[in-house]
Amino acid sequence: MKRESTARKAERAAEINGWLAREYPDAACALVHNDAYQLLVATILSAQCTDKRVNLVTPAFFAAYPDARALAEAPSEDVVEAIHSTGFYNHKAKSLQGMARQVVDQHGGQIPDTMEALTRLPGVGRKTANVVLGNVFGIPGLTVDTHMIRLNNLLGLVQGKDAVKIERTLMTLLPPEEWTMYSHRIIEHGRTVCIARRPRCPDCVLNELCPSALEPVKSAS
Ligand code: SF4
Repeated sequence: MKRESTARKAERAAEINGWLAREYPDAACALVHNDAYQLLVATILSAQCTDKRVNLVTPAFFAAYPDARALAEAPSEDVVEAIHSTGFYNHKAKSLQGMARQVVDQHGGQIPDTMEALTRLPGVGRKTANVVLGNVFGIPGLTVDTHMIRLNNLLGLVQGKDAVKIERTLMTLLPPEEWTMYSHRIIEHGRTVCIARRPRCPDCVLNELCPSALEPVKSAS
């Protein structure tokens, strides 16, 4: 197969993004939140858990622990109990309280708004940091989750599973102002059409742009 130039890939990425923007005009972060603290907590909880489940747990959690200080000072067994149904609760509770203590100790209780400071918090990697930066602080970020890895590989825009490499590659293919929304659109497409076990290629708006399309495009006639 002929190697695609970066310029052609960028053109195709723009076309893909355009199609997805028309298909998902309301694409947005599925985790319910009111501020950076809430989104950071919800994103940590969403590891190995559905957003739907996290959204069931967070209202009571935020009522009990409305800010980083309250979370930092809470008995750890109560935090474990509050997040039990999201799975991996011991690990998540440790990350949540470690994050909260550092936010209190080093940032006066306010969630920081830089990649550098966010990724120094316990339990916070680039993906989680980009969710918060893009959705609360308006700082563009690509959220490379399982859908972003799978779909961008299928679409031939990236190769491999290394999330940081994928993020860097996509940063060269798409303009910064599209990074956050591109992530939301790809994630929605991965949940609804390009489903892992049974991609619905004949119904996919990216069919003609996707080198992995399973079925020929249906004739319009
Ligand atoms: S054409 Fe198929 S493999 Fe390609 S993005 Fe669409 S559903 Fe996924």
